[in-house]
Amino acid sequence: MAMKVTFLGTGTSQGVPVIGCDCDVCQSLDYRDKRLRSSVHLSVNNKSIVIDSGPDFRQQMLREKILCLDAILFTHAHKDHIAGLDDVRAYNYIQHADMPVYGTAKVLEQLKIEFYYAFEKFKYPGIPQLQLMEMTDASFMVQGIPVTPLPVLHYKLPVMGFRINNFSYITDANQIPDSTYEKLKGTKVLVLNALQREKHLSHFNLAEALEVAAKVGAEQTYFIHISHKLGLHKTVEKELPESVTLAYDGLSIEL
Ligand SMILES: [Zn+2]
Ligand SMILES: [Zn+2]
Ligand SMILES: [Zn+2]
Repeated sequence: MAMKVTFLGTGTSQGVPVIGCDCDVCQSLDYRDKRLRSSVHLSVNNKSIVIDSGPDFRQQMLREKILCLDAILFTHAHKDHIAGLDDVRAYNYIQHADMPVYGTAKVLEQLKIEFYYAFEKFKYPGIPQLQLMEMTDASFMVQGIPVTPLPVLHYKLPVMGFRINNFSYITDANQIPDSTYEKLKGTKVLVLNALQREKHLSHFNLAEALEVAAKVGAEQTYFIHISHKLGLHKTVEKELPESVTLAYDGLSIEL
């Protein structure tokens, strides 16, 4: 199952640069220091899937020229991961179909609150058309592609990572239970959040993310959900072991 993965965004909830910040990272001219909110596009078996649709979803779809979209998988319902969902209207229009959106029962409930107008009995014309697909911890199929959920904790909030074949994606976590480490065994690529250097309540910091990367032992680990506080891309890159890289927006890998 060949797949192509494109990092649509690799920034934390505020994005990088942060509005009004004059730090070195926010002022950097390096394109790798410009980070939209975290999301990834997967092209697998001719299907087009995104994980999360944050506030930069529209801009990301335009930048990567993603002309069709078959499904969205949601990790959790924090605003930086769902806020762009309204823009699936474009795909509803082109594809003449509802957009299947996958999430846990709790996440789907939150989508119904956040995008209440899409779920009203008498629908206003032009609203997003969503097909809510409930998932649990159990593996499931998306458009014929097997997906294994990877339950993790984001402080106290349960969040889902996803494994598809040898690609595993974990955003917004600072705890990984043993049962999820089991599911990560043998993955070739691991994507993991690494927010900043200082310890954080709900995200792995750089040191913790490096420990997780070593424990999982993927051929290559990519860090995402990066804050301006982590430092300049080119500086941080030099500190990392060979099997670990900072992802950046627009980076694309094939596996
Ligand atoms: Zn987030
Ligand atoms: Zn800054
Ligand atoms: Zn979050």
